[in-house]
Parts: sequence; structure tokens; C-alpha cells
Amino acid sequence: MADDELDVRAFADEFRAFMKALQKATPPPEPTALARRLNEHLGADPGELPVTVESLPSYEQANVQAAMDAYLAGDGITAELIGIVGSGREHQGFADLVDAARKHGQYDLGAVDYATVSVGVGKEQACVSFGLYLIATPEHRLAALVRLSGHRRAVPEMLIEVMCSDAEAARQFLRTVREYTVRHHVCRGQVLSFESYEYGDGIGPLRFHERPQVDAADVILPAGVLDSVHRQILGVAEHRERLLKAGHHLKRGVVLFGPPGTGKTHTIRHLIGAQPETTVIVLTGLGVQFIREACSLARLLPPALVVLEDVDLIAEERTMSHLGMGNPLLFQLLNEMDGVAGDADIAFLLTTNRLDLVEPALAQRPGRVDLVAEVPLPDVAGRRRLLELYGVSAHLTPDEVERVVHATAGATGSFFAELSRRADLLAATAGDDTTGMKHVSAALDELGRSRTAVSNAIAAFRSSGGLSEEAHSGASPQPAPYV
Ligand code: ADP
Repeated sequence: MADDELDVRAFADEFRAFMKALQKATPPPEPTALARRLNEHLGADPGELPVTVESLPSYEQANVQAAMDAYLAGDGITAELIGIVGSGREHQGFADLVDAARKHGQYDLGAVDYATVSVGVGKEQACVSFGLYLIATPEHRLAALVRLSGHRRAVPEMLIEVMCSDAEAARQFLRTVREYTVRHHVCRGQVLSFESYEYGDGIGPLRFHERPQVDAADVILPAGVLDSVHRQILGVAEHRERLLKAGHHLKRGVVLFGPPGTGKTHTIRHLIGAQPETTVIVLTGLGVQFIREACSLARLLPPALVVLEDVDLIAEERTMSHLGMGNPLLFQLLNEMDGVAGDADIAFLLTTNRLDLVEPALAQRPGRVDLVAEVPLPDVAGRRRLLELYGVSAHLTPDEVERVVHATAGATGSFFAELSRRADLLAATAGDDTTGMKHVSAALDELGRSRTAVSNAIAAFRSSGGLSEEAHSGASPQPAPYV
């Protein structure tokens, strides 16, 4: 070996000896304030204590917060909330964090992390996303680390890790918190929808909505229709106890069917407004893919109303099913309805423009639907009331009103809302103070013309081969011309 070459083995031996000497000379790191604080609170070395863990989906964050707040407000319970700082804390379980704080001087007291979570229309709440609750009950002392974590999992989750000398007390604490997440659920009594878009107030696919208010008097339907819907939806809820005692089921299904624009959604808005305490979950069209989630939420938060709008859209999927399974979504919907216990105060309200598409599935799975109510085109009396409701007849003579009623045979309820808007706009642009017959006539002409234009355009498009008849078979029949 040449003189200038390094003797690697000898160097390694010397280096090891040096490190040993260094270790001896350096005192072990002090436990951090976090370790001392835990020791003091728990009255024991936290390194010796078991940790019990509960995991919930991340969208439960606001419910966990509500549950923790409710628990801590309990009699004789005191708590302090502290934060933990230190790099890589999100990759460590509670026990590992504590171990590092005790032995390696890592992880210390710091600020609590919060996340802002939507809990209603225009309502947000700050929820702990990394914080340690030091809890004292009359019997026990617990430390609960609450955090939102992607910790070793692909999907983020809410973790509650509880340290306590009595593992059964930790489990009991977690059972209570879980029960409180249901009791204080932020969706209870709210109007919600499941959506695939990300806009608006909500959690994941859930969106919060204002509860609509529509008076019964403003829903213009043939005599008896609204009464029978009321009886099934509101009446059953009102007489819940009596019906249960008599052994009857509370779960119910109602189908509203009729051409587009006749007031099915309008009726639903009225029903939602008439039940201020009920949890309402609305699924529209292909949103029905969330039927399982909607039903489990309804089961969790009764009394509940599950609204499934335009179920013909999923019924039409049958044409796309090449597997000979009928249409899976519609059957899944009916199965989910079946999966809800009969004594649950849960109403299903289905709407469709095409009962013919939905009816075979309903017939194959009987017992899901208690009432099928038609929401038809308005008759003479209905059209008269609609003209009044939307203010069209306010400045017309009785004779003029009858002429408009006659001219609008075959029109839908929504037509009258639009007629009113157009006539008022014509009057306003003409500088006239009131909306009279000449404006109403002009508006009727306009609406008739635009209708014809649309029908002509569709007819031309179809005859050019733009849409196959089959693809278009779901289109609603055109009502008779209005004028
Ligand atoms: P559908 O759900 O049957 O397609 P909508 O309920 O959406 O029809 O009707 C659209 C609008 O037309 C409603 O918001 C309401 O203003 C008006 N309208 C329709 N039908 C009625 C009705 N029967 N009574 C009162 N207003 C109606």
C-alpha cells in the first residue's frame, strides 16, 4: 500500500470510536414540552399508554367537529386544545409522534390547524384539522388527536387517535363521538343535492340549498291531486306514531308524471317548503347514480324526503344496455328504495315526463310506489287560475280573460309564467303603465312564433338525418298550438 493511500478499515474503526465517545459526551435530548404536557395531563408516561384509533371519511370533518364540541359541552368535562408542530408529523401515528417527542426531542407544542368547511348555504365552520384535545372527565383523562390525514392512505380520512390508560374508556369515548356525529350531523334537516360539479356550498358531491317556499295556493293542479300527494308525503309524517302503532309502514313512494312544464318540480318545491324539519335529498337525472349515498344519508337523518327528478332519463339507459339486464340504474334505484326499512319516515318522490318508460320497471318490482299522480296540462279552470296567479289577467276584462283561456288550450303551466314575463316586458318597452290585452296578444304571438320556429328547426334537423328517431324517442310530445 502506498503511503498516501487511506487505510479505510482503520479509518472506519476510528470513526466509530469517535461517534461512541461523542454520544457518551452528549446528553440525550430532553423530552419536548409536548411530551411533558401529555405526561402531566395523563398522569403517566405517555410512551406506555395504548392508543385507540377511529377513522372516518374526510367529508365527516364538520360532523366530527360538531360531535367533539357537543361531547366537550357535557357535564363535568373539561378540555384544552393544543397544536403539535414538527416536520413530517402527518406521516406519524400518535404513538410515534409521542415517542419522538419523548426520546428524540422532536415535535412540540404549537398552533392548532383548522380547515374551513361548508356547513350550509353561505355557512362555513372552522374545523380542527390537526389538534390535540386534552380531556378530563370525572373518571378519566384522555388525549385525543383529531386530524385530517392522507397518512399512508390514498384517500384522505378523519382520524381520531385516543390515548388513555384505560383502553375501554378510549373505546367508549370514540363510540360516543361517533354517535354524536350522527346526532349533530350538519346535513340534518337541510336541503341537499348530489352533484358532479364543484361549485357552490357543499362537501364533496353534496350541495346545500335554501329551502324553497311555495304556497299550496300557488300550485295550480286539478282538484284532488295536491291533496292526495299531501296525504302521502305530509300526512304520513304527521301521523307517524299512530300509523306505526297500527303496524303500517312509513316509507312511501310517490310518482308525479306529466308533460314537461306542468308543475312537477313546482309541486316538489312546495312540498319541501312545507316540511321545514325534514332532510331533503334531491337527485336530478343522472345524479341518480348517487342513489346509494342518498339512501344511506336518508336512513341516517330521518325524517327524510328523497327526490328523484326525471327518472325517465335513467329509464332510457335501457336502450344502451347491451347486457340484457334491463336498465341497471333504474333497478338499482328500486332496490335501494327496497333496502330502506318500512318503519323509517322516508318518502321517495319520483318525477317523470315518460311514465311509459318507467312503468315496466315499477310493475316488475311492485310495492315501491304508493301513489302515481298525474300532473296534466291545465284545463280551462286551471288556465284561468294560472293567468291570475301570474298576473296576466290583472288588467284584462272578463271577456278578454276568457279569450286568452281559450287561446291557450294545450299550454303548460310554465307557459303562463313566460307569457306574463313577455307581456310585461312588451308593456315596459312600449312605455305603457299597465299590461293590457294588446301586450298579452303580442306576447302570445311571439311565443307561438318562437315555438313554431323551434319545432321547424327540429323537424328540419331530423329530416336531414341529424338525429335518429330512436335517439329522439324520449322527446316529449308537443302540446297543441296555443293560438
Ligand atoms: P315540470 O317539473 O313539470 O317540468 P316545472 O315545475 O319546472 O315543470 O315548471 C316550471 C315553472 O312553471 C314553475 O317554476 C312555475 O313557475 C310554472 N308552473 C308550471 N306548472 C305550474 C302549475 N301547475 N302551477 C303553477 N305554476 C306552474
